[in-house]
Amino acid sequence: MTTEIGFAELVAMLNGAVANIRTHHARLSELDAINGDGDHGTTMLRAAARMEGAIAEHKDRNLQALLSEIAWALLGVDGGAAGPLLGLLFSGLSQAADGAPALDAEGLARAFEAGLASVAGQTKARVGDKTMMDALIPAVSALRKGAETGQDCLQSLKCAAEAAGAGAEATKALTAKFGRAKNLGDRTLGYPDPGATSLALMFQGYWEGVQKTGAAEDASR
Ligand SMILES: [Mg+2]
Repeated sequence: MTTEIGFAELVAMLNGAVANIRTHHARLSELDAINGDGDHGTTMLRAAARMEGAIAEHKDRNLQALLSEIAWALLGVDGGAAGPLLGLLFSGLSQAADGAPALDAEGLARAFEAGLASVAGQTKARVGDKTMMDALIPAVSALRKGAETGQDCLQSLKCAAEAAGAGAEATKALTAKFGRAKNLGDRTLGYPDPGATSLALMFQGYWEGVQKTGAAEDASR
């Protein structure tokens, strides 16, 4: 049971996302080579390295500050829209964290809702457009549902990871409407969107990271 995401859990979430991106970056580039220019895996590796750098340089164990530092680190990642959009996501998360020492399931849902709003202000893409939004929007809905049904943070993150994964998988049946891939029309059919896939990998990493901290706590009891 993980009732709160404190600083240690946040770092575990972020490290989980970094690890998952590193494991699957080749797959992301393969998908991007079908739908786009094949650089999404290396872009996400740069994003992962920057996230790790921001965690290493962070000094004061402050949720809002770390999220803001991650946001700035990601905003500067070149290689298409992924870095800036992820930067906006973390910028929204940071603003919502607003000095809180920890986030419960409700706080987590609110933070990701703010992150989603921040991204949605910058792109017209929504569910069905074959972008990262196909994973992000259902993941945030799952966090909201988790908060409203009394799930703890770990359960809520598990449901969010599953929703993001299902959302990314569902993009196989879609034709791209945004970015470089939109010029390829039906050629993108049958393959998941790389941006939705990387978003799903990140949510899977958040869940796995927090699960590990929970297991470590249980073992030390
Ligand atoms: Mg690309």
